[in-house]
Amino acid sequence: MRRCLPVVGVLITLLWVPSIAQDARGALDAAIAAMGASNLHAVEYTAVKGNQYALGQAPGPGKPWPRFTVTQYSMRINYDALVMREQTTRIDDEKPPRGGGAGGYNPESQQGGIRPIPFGPNVITTLRNGQTPDGALQIWLTPHGFLKGAAANAATLTATPRDRNGSLSLSFKAFEKYTVTGTLTRDNLVERVRTTVAHPLYGDSVIETQFSGYQDVGGVKFPSRMIQRQGGFPLLDVALTAQPGAAAAAALTVPAPGARGRGQGEGPAPAPAQGTARLTTRELAPGFWAIAGIQSFIIDFRDFVVVVEAPASPARMEEVLAEARLLAPGKPIRYVVNSHQHADHSGGLRAAVAAGLTILTHEVNVPFYNTMLRNPATIEPDALARNPRAPILEGVADKKVITDGTRVVEVHHVRGNLHSEGLLMVYLTKERMLIQADLFSPRQAEAKPLPWSTITANFYDNIRRLKLDVAQMVHVHGGTDPFDKLVAAANLPHE
Ligand SMILES: [Zn+2]
Ligand SMILES: [Zn+2]
Repeated sequence: MRRCLPVVGVLITLLWVPSIAQDARGALDAAIAAMGASNLHAVEYTAVKGNQYALGQAPGPGKPWPRFTVTQYSMRINYDALVMREQTTRIDDEKPPRGGGAGGYNPESQQGGIRPIPFGPNVITTLRNGQTPDGALQIWLTPHGFLKGAAANAATLTATPRDRNGSLSLSFKAFEKYTVTGTLTRDNLVERVRTTVAHPLYGDSVIETQFSGYQDVGGVKFPSRMIQRQGGFPLLDVALTAQPGAAAAAALTVPAPGARGRGQGEGPAPAPAQGTARLTTRELAPGFWAIAGIQSFIIDFRDFVVVVEAPASPARMEEVLAEARLLAPGKPIRYVVNSHQHADHSGGLRAAVAAGLTILTHEVNVPFYNTMLRNPATIEPDALARNPRAPILEGVADKKVITDGTRVVEVHHVRGNLHSEGLLMVYLTKERMLIQADLFSPRQAEAKPLPWSTITANFYDNIRRLKLDVAQMVHVHGGTDPFDKLVAAANLPHE
């Protein structure tokens, strides 16, 4: 008799399948009714306090994202047109600032590039098209957006049984690769929504939004608090007020193609289109080239090559490695030097691992990369997902000299810098050129002078400590400047 039991179990499972599917639709309908979602076509959420955090810009490997104070926040959603606009006004009031997240330099506002972010509040606006996966996911990460997304993708809907607290999870699949899961309370309110997105460095990365303090506004339930997290740490935490049917939200229209509405958050740059022509490369000194963008550098030695920096994305890094092979044909790439663990500077590392190259980074980053560079990337399979290999990491403590007997390149730890623990700079001794990332922000000639920054002053102190005879600074974020500019910036008066 005992031998028959598994068969009975299978039969019961098969019989349950239609019932579970029905339960999912029933649970969704109950949540739509409880939340009043059918009657909601547009909404504006506003906040006057909260915190925003910069993804991928932690002050050290594995630490929480750096925090900024939110003074104004608005999230407008038009559920009919499938458009979402988010605007965050933030101030950089952490004293002293730790980590990155100032965003790229914006010539109009003269903000960005370095912390503390100068010249008053910093406004980040993003406009998302819900017809695209990126835009749709953001709308689904809101309470009513999740329910509308689940209804639109009802064919893929599944539900878990209610747990002892009366909660259940509803999941749907969209664009053939994203699974979006919402947790409903016993009262059928949306408590959290999560999905997994692609990240150039972290691979498959979970993003989750949590809602609480529901209030009824005209028969529709709205949360009064929202916390969004990615990689386990908060991205946004705001106290919300909802205005259903707000005219500004109802008036939103689909952004024109190409209008990405990217904010100033120093996130990874979008990957360039595949199959483009050769990268824009400039020779800064004989055998020393810079590749435009968030820059990578190629340094030619007698019988090997060193690449400095693997920014942006694995696709971009594959192009950089191809360029290195064109510029120095037949020579092996001995190292890919990584300045620090921020995502804009390390987003290409997975391609370096796939190519079997040795990554030279500060030793504090080694355990972090050993985890990150082994993560799966199933959402957007990259070079490493196609060609899985274990990362080869070499940690630098204070200094590493790379030489062929003629050319000498020194890699130094920038000690005690608050931008990132384990930040490296690269000094070409004969050329007297110093490659730096995020320690000094170049400005146009007509720009207002930046206020004093502890991050820049510490950079200058490290150069003096090491007695480096620098003539020119070469900036990973673009351009070069004579050393005098740094001397002036580091010696500005300050509190
Ligand atoms: Zn950085
Ligand atoms: Zn940077």
